[in-house]
Amino acid sequence: MTLHINYDHQCASCSAEYVPYDEKILCPNCGNFEPDRYDFIPEAIESLKFNRSAGSYIPGAWLVESISDHILNLLFYLFAAHEKSESEDFRHFSVDWLSSLDWEDQDYLCGYMIQLAARVYTALDGETTADPVGNTEESSES
Ligand SMILES: [Zn+2]
Repeated sequence: MTLHINYDHQCASCSAEYVPYDEKILCPNCGNFEPDRYDFIPEAIESLKFNRSAGSYIPGAWLVESISDHILNLLFYLFAAHEKSESEDFRHFSVDWLSSLDWEDQDYLCGYMIQLAARVYTALDGETTADPVGNTEESSES
């Protein structure tokens, strides 16, 4: 069993697919602001923890049916690779790892994923004590 997220979203202006997971998230492709929000981070953490408790961040089978599932899949592989690397600098590791992927026509997702992965990592790390919403982090540099 795996925990999927069936949320889909396309930018109304440029039709790029992404998940507006925090208050300040703009379309990563064109910078358009849209009022839609989806509380993606807590669900992503549940899904990651669920997989990890079964032995690996990477589930045995994973059918991608939404942009959320696509993003989750990237997180699974990133977190598994990071765990294996024993790197202590997650941010640095994720930048290298994500930048090395072939993004094809979804280039805009790379910087977006770096930011999102850092957000998930921080929340997962402090998950036991932090409030579920947390603070929106400013990360303008990449
Ligand atoms: Zn857009």
